[in-house]
Amino acid sequence: MKHFQQGVALAALLLSGCGQRALEPDAAIVCDQCDRWNQPQDPFRVHGNTWYVGTAGLSSVLLESDEGLILIDGGLPQSAALIDANIRSLGFDTRDIKAILVSHVHFDHVGGISALQRFSGANVFTSVAGSGPLSVGALADDDPQYIAGSGEGHFPPVREVVAVEDGGVVSVGALDVKAVYTPGHTPGGTTWTWKSCALGACYDVVYADSLSAVSAEGFKFTSSGVAENLIASAGIIADLDCDILLVPHPFFFGMDTKLERLDDGNPFINKLGCVLYAESSLDWLERRLEAEGSH
Ligand SMILES: [Zn+2]
Repeated sequence: MKHFQQGVALAALLLSGCGQRALEPDAAIVCDQCDRWNQPQDPFRVHGNTWYVGTAGLSSVLLESDEGLILIDGGLPQSAALIDANIRSLGFDTRDIKAILVSHVHFDHVGGISALQRFSGANVFTSVAGSGPLSVGALADDDPQYIAGSGEGHFPPVREVVAVEDGGVVSVGALDVKAVYTPGHTPGGTTWTWKSCALGACYDVVYADSLSAVSAEGFKFTSSGVAENLIASAGIIADLDCDILLVPHPFFFGMDTKLERLDDGNPFINKLGCVLYAESSLDWLERRLEAEGSH
């Protein structure tokens, strides 16, 4: 028995000696789609400095610089351990993340960030409008998905959020990632863009925020001014220098079909990606506005 205990102590010592302190996840969020979204996904290199480390239905993107890592989005609270495992399986160390960037403050994209921040000590960056909700762990009342007096949509709050202005740049080492405000899906929605270079070729990568016209019941895109924001944001994304499109839900950049075509060059490189994404988002909004008009 004594021998066994020593073995355990030795194992613990070896683990801590290797720096294998485990990430401490927050309580899981339950929702209709959560289990489906949180299915594991093998991580993969999108291009050059850009790696997909998210789950099957919620994007997380890892950027490699000469002085540490940047992570964009953190999925659900229960995604954090999967993201950490994906990062490690690629040979990176999650504790080398220096900055975590946020697309938009909804529980399915920021739920895992608090745990990832505690584990890595990274700074967390979002837009000015996103910083309030991210700091309190709840939506503000101007969010289309806000439900008054409800705990719906709450998530672990993030400490010491850094607000980035429109056009602001977050840099780690020589890697610059630029914030482009694209409000509509949320008031603080932010698209992030950077360059990825490999084999002598450089590409503009765009992590375009969600542009879907989704809301709590009773919210009117027509009367809130949010429809105008979505139209303007779709135009901004369509006009970006964009060779590689990524978005917060991988379905919207065709991750699965592109992974099936990996033998065929790099299917993620497509100069039309941002334009087509903007167009399909405007179609969605049009259907939504028609539905509002008929009620
Ligand atoms: Zn959302």
